[in-house]
Amino acid sequence: MKTHLDRICLTIIFFSLYPFPCLAQSNRYLNGRIMKELNADSGYISARNRMTREFDQTKPGAWGEFVNGVKVRFDSHNKSIALTFDACGGPKSSGYDSALIAFLQTQKIHATLFITGKWIDANYSNFLKLAKDTFFEIENHGLNHKPCSFCGAMAYGIKGTVNSKAAYDEIEANTIKIKKITGRKPGIYRSATAYIDEASVQMAGKMGYIVISYDVLSTDAMPALPAEEIKQTVLQHIHPGAIVIMHFNHPEWNTLKAMKLLIPELRKQGYSFVILKNQSLLPRKRKVKH
Ligand SMILES: [Zn+2]
Repeated sequence: MKTHLDRICLTIIFFSLYPFPCLAQSNRYLNGRIMKELNADSGYISARNRMTREFDQTKPGAWGEFVNGVKVRFDSHNKSIALTFDACGGPKSSGYDSALIAFLQTQKIHATLFITGKWIDANYSNFLKLAKDTFFEIENHGLNHKPCSFCGAMAYGIKGTVNSKAAYDEIEANTIKIKKITGRKPGIYRSATAYIDEASVQMAGKMGYIVISYDVLSTDAMPALPAEEIKQTVLQHIHPGAIVIMHFNHPEWNTLKAMKLLIPELRKQGYSFVILKNQSLLPRKRKVKH
């Protein structure tokens, strides 16, 4: 019969021989930890101070998904379009639609994934796999999924960042996090909910980012909407150079069902799928007045 001491010894031997695969997958850059480190980093603090001082007197300006400076489409000389999928993160938004991702992979569809720090923290090993897939481009959806604001403006019941310093952190800390984990620095930012104010767009531009929204709303975020209707909505609005917005953090939504209907139809119409990073991104077309 084993004594208590024997059991302790066996446990020590087991863990000293075990290769700790879980530790190899551990996330050293959890949101709380990375912000604590950045707030103690003199280089980060002085870059943030320089930027926020520059925008000290800037009023927030217009608030919305399509304010001045936001890009929504790209210059396409053939029938290419960009499928983009957000992963928002948070208590009810940290799911992983693995079947949707598997579908994109088997269909060899290029896609741009906008990911928050929150979602990464809840899905670290899946995030590592996504980042290694060359068909996917990882871009920035904010550290804590806060709409980007200089004054705490709200969108869909979510309070935005409260000032320029918080807006800076929401964008830059997530970029630093993604760069540290994947080795690649995101250059495109889509604010949480796509709502952003003009001052934040200007500041993000100075920080070196292109801010995008979308021009085809797939409506996949309406859980009760049948897949056929999502498909029809996209087909009604699609055009060369379109940026389509969808999600991959809600496996219970109809995104995958809609994609299974949509992809063959888009291909039949001659569309191909590209990632955003090498595209010439453009603002909304101005309505011509007659
Ligand atoms: Zn989101």
